[in-house]
Amino acid sequence: MKYLLLFLLGVLGLCAADKPCLFCEIAAGRLEASMIWRDESVMAFLSIGPRNVGHVLVVPVQHAEGILDLPPATAHHMMDVAQKIVRAIKQTDLPAEGFNLKLNSGAAAGQTVFHVHLHVIPRFAAEPPEPPPGTRVAKAQLDPIADKIRAKLDLAATL
Ligand code: 5GP
Ligand code: ZN
Repeated sequence: MKYLLLFLLGVLGLCAADKPCLFCEIAAGRLEASMIWRDESVMAFLSIGPRNVGHVLVVPVQHAEGILDLPPATAHHMMDVAQKIVRAIKQTDLPAEGFNLKLNSGAAAGQTVFHVHLHVIPRFAAEPPEPPPGTRVAKAQLDPIADKIRAKLDLAATL
């Protein structure tokens, strides 16, 4: 029994080790995302578990786990793209009274996807209730939101 348990734990460990990085899969086009921005070093797409409507993730194209693994130029460019996205969201009819720009680096800080990303989250003084963790929104619902933001980005892409 003990050996069976050890065997099963080993198999589970191997599976976890083999699991591809979600955001590298999106960067490679093997996993779909409601994409808003893409250039040589940075992409931005909607979170599938949004804190609020229009919750965007700004993500380096090249894998980097945490903040210190990022080339400084990419970190700076992520902030530039986040600023463009905030400006674009404000030009849509999506509601937002303020924004959080938030980067969780390390499990202790709440990072759950270990490919570093900057959250851009529309916020409100009287905040709607937070969706329970794990609440996923279908791509068909996210795509029209991404389209709205992208349309304004094209007009607002000067810093
Ligand atoms: P963290 O907790 O690592 O700071 O944030 C992870 C973010 O990635 C959350 O907003 C979560 O909803 C989002 N997320 C997790 N898996 C996927 C996915 O497969 N696609 C997209 N678009 N977002 C994801
Ligand atoms: Zn990755």
